[in-house]
Amino acid sequence: ELPCSIRSFSEAAGISAAQVLKTLMGMGMMMNINAQIDQGTAELIAAELDLEISLKSQTSLEEDLIDQIEERADEEADLVPRQPIVTFLGHVDHGKTSLLDYLIGTRIVKGEAGGITQHIRAYEVDKDGRKITFVDTPGHEAFTEMRARGANVTDIAVLVIAADDGIMPQTEEAISHAKAAGVPIVVALNKMDIPGVDSNRPMTQMTEHGLTPSEWGGDVEVVRTSATTGLGMDELLDTLLTVSELNEYKANPNRDALGVCLESEQQADRGVIAKFVVQNGTLKVGDVVVCGPAHGRVKALTDTLTGEPMREAGPSTPVNVTGLDQPPGAGDRFHVLDNIAEAREIAETREFDSKSQNLSGITTKVSFEHFQQL
Ligand code: GDP
Ligand code: MG
Repeated sequence: ELPCSIRSFSEAAGISAAQVLKTLMGMGMMMNINAQIDQGTAELIAAELDLEISLKSQTSLEEDLIDQIEERADEEADLVPRQPIVTFLGHVDHGKTSLLDYLIGTRIVKGEAGGITQHIRAYEVDKDGRKITFVDTPGHEAFTEMRARGANVTDIAVLVIAADDGIMPQTEEAISHAKAAGVPIVVALNKMDIPGVDSNRPMTQMTEHGLTPSEWGGDVEVVRTSATTGLGMDELLDTLLTVSELNEYKANPNRDALGVCLESEQQADRGVIAKFVVQNGTLKVGDVVVCGPAHGRVKALTDTLTGEPMREAGPSTPVNVTGLDQPPGAGDRFHVLDNIAEAREIAETREFDSKSQNLSGITTKVSFEHFQQL
């Protein structure tokens, strides 16, 4: 573990502290046995003494544990079908939020306010006992950021195109994002209630952008919708469920949960509330969680729509989580660990690392250009 004292370095390396001190002195560094040395100094000593020692920092040791969790493969026999996670993408004002409002409002809470929100919303919608998880993001940045950080949660992209407006710059961006993510695209040709709209024009534009509608012999399903009248809503859900069945999304509910934080906030009365989507395994009340620089024991799980308490959240489930010590970032992955001390150590190391990175002026924000090259 580095940085560490000269005493523990010499013990770990199997050489006397006196020899370490002498070597340091030879390099012009006067130190005592309790002084701390960092990775670079340890490497210098190792080179000087011809030592073959493994100089793994604390950070990488801990992240190895996280990597092991990520890479732990499931037995085929443990996998069961899971519901698809669907994200709405498209040009601003083409109706992404309205479509989700319609789907939620008519099926779960009648009369839910449908205003434009700055939040990333994630809800479960039930269609004849079959579920779909919908994610609505305020813009592409959220989608881009999350994908660039390796936390892509989307199985299927619904590309929303207002029939009266057609393909616009952000529609083009959305198409390239969905293609880069390698997820199937279903088009919702929205605002079909507007008098005189002609679906031929946007569908011709689609073809020009490499998306040929299935009714024209291509492989992209186009559903004509209206978030105002409800036109095409059942068809949209059925189409998504069909795409989901074809792709056979699976997960293992009988393992510790892992997934991604969509957003989080600090509330005065309830503390930190984080919105997670579980990607594999089952998250339970009492689980020890680490997520970015945050950690804690899950105090409560609640339904993202109704606020009802939940005892556990299985694969593809969006859930609000309380019990973390600080709000994690959007796109931070979460993992369940065996004990709280381990979780604290990982979280603290990450926080320390990000602070020292900030101090040295290195930024970890990934640019749009970088994303496009991925
Ligand atoms: P977003 O930016 O893609 O989330 O778009 P919104 O859902 O906020 O919708 C933008 C505007 O279009 C709002 O004024 C909606 O009421 C309106 N709108 C959304 N869907 C439809 C639709 O199907 N038909 C009509 N006529 N208006 C719609
Ligand atoms: Mg919106």
